[in-house]
Amino acid sequence: MAVEITRIDTLVVGAGQAGVAMSEHLTKLGVPHLVLERERIAERWRTMRWDSLVANGPAWHDRFPGLEFDIDDDAFPDKEKVAAYFEAYARRFNAPIRTGVEVKKVRRNANRPGFTVETSEGVIEANRVVAATGPFQRPVIPAIAPQDEHLLQIHSADYRNPQQLPAGAVLVVGAGSSGTQIADELMQAGRQVYLSVGAHDRPPRSYRNRDFCWWLGVLGEWDQETPKAGREHVTIAVSGAGGGKTIDFRRLAHQGMTLVGLTRSFENGVVQFAGDLVDNVRRGDENYLALLDAADAYVKRNGLDLPEEPEARIIPADPACMSEPLRELDLVAAGVTSIIWATGFATDFSWLEADTFDANGKPQHQRGVSREPGIYFLGLPWLSRRGSSFIWGVWHDAKHVADHIATQRKYTAYRDAEQRHVDAPITRLQGVK
Ligand SMILES: Cc1cc2nc3c(=O)[nH]c(=O)nc-3n(C[C@H](O)[C@H](O)[C@H](O)COP(=O)(O)OP(=O)(O)OC[C@H]3O[C@@H](n4cnc5c(N)ncnc54)[C@H](O)[C@@H]3O)c2cc1C
Repeated sequence: MAVEITRIDTLVVGAGQAGVAMSEHLTKLGVPHLVLERERIAERWRTMRWDSLVANGPAWHDRFPGLEFDIDDDAFPDKEKVAAYFEAYARRFNAPIRTGVEVKKVRRNANRPGFTVETSEGVIEANRVVAATGPFQRPVIPAIAPQDEHLLQIHSADYRNPQQLPAGAVLVVGAGSSGTQIADELMQAGRQVYLSVGAHDRPPRSYRNRDFCWWLGVLGEWDQETPKAGREHVTIAVSGAGGGKTIDFRRLAHQGMTLVGLTRSFENGVVQFAGDLVDNVRRGDENYLALLDAADAYVKRNGLDLPEEPEARIIPADPACMSEPLRELDLVAAGVTSIIWATGFATDFSWLEADTFDANGKPQHQRGVSREPGIYFLGLPWLSRRGSSFIWGVWHDAKHVADHIATQRKYTAYRDAEQRHVDAPITRLQGVK
């Protein structure tokens, strides 16, 4: 029996925000395409994040240009609302998304253009493939994690709520947006929490009546094309939780959290921390204060009438855990029963056989246009700029990728005079050359 093969111009893999944005731009340009999503639209917002998660940016900012959230512009939508938003967005233009279909392998065709795509529901032939499978595909737990059956160890992607953890204290490793919010939630739930703090940026939630998203926008920071030297692995500690507050590690410590430096190693039930806590917190303060300075200069230069906020510059006194930082902790003696690894994610393109990865498996591309003609990437951190992996950034990157695809289609469609004559006799308007 002959196997039925679907043919499509452009196949988009993944229907998170990147896949939905891609589909919108391809639709506008009239490019025939199909989006395959192995689960549901925006699945990661539904099931791969903790229960209380809200967007890190306010509703007016963390969205696509063409549709607003149905909540106050300055509020922070919860994760279900974000998922519902993308679903509704896709419905608006009838996006050709097939859910529940996994792409298992993409291979370049030999001696002819295009790609053969194996999916959980058959084979597809596509001229082009856009990998929109997300910036955060595979949770990463570092190799130092102890083999200890008495400890519950989970990645932040598997954390849901405090009740999920056994009674006892918790060590949260990583103080970016995820680690800090989870640590705070656990402390509010009455847990003793140790938070391992590495290098981080710590913008004010808002300053002079404007959210930090606004400041980063007007100051051109979302448009930075590459991370600043030495800041490639720096996380950003921001949160929209509880209506949105500035993350202040000293305040968390004064409320009872124990801050520690980078987690170095585990041996015989004892964890060792680096002696970098104070430096890390101080550098976070410098980043915070630098943004206030830049904001003040912007207000002055543009003669804006925004209320002054001198109290934003008050940094609380160092808590005891900073003046005498812990360098090691006996987990049993401290009653630690769980470790949450908020240590980030890696990409996984094992399904994509293409000549566009470096020796470390990192995609090689220019603004999403890969080295392998016909393969595109979308949604990756710093794809074209700092905003690329975020909701408001991916939409603009998708536009660029869609334009590139439309242009390539024109080259493919080109026929020389002879071919044109054979394909369809040419009729010219009188007088038009
Ligand atoms: C905890 C957390 C909070 C965040 N909060 C914000 C925020 O507030 N604001 C903001 O702008 N950004 C936020 N981000 C960053 C970013 O917006 C999200 O990570 C977002 O989910 C990325 O969207 P995406 O479409 O690029 O990827 P994803 O949402 O990861 O979507 C990729 C899709 O591809 C599918 N897929 C993968 N492989 C295959 C395959 N082989 N076949 C078929 N389908 C496949 C997956 O099922 C998934 O649905 C947050 C990230 C995290 C981790």
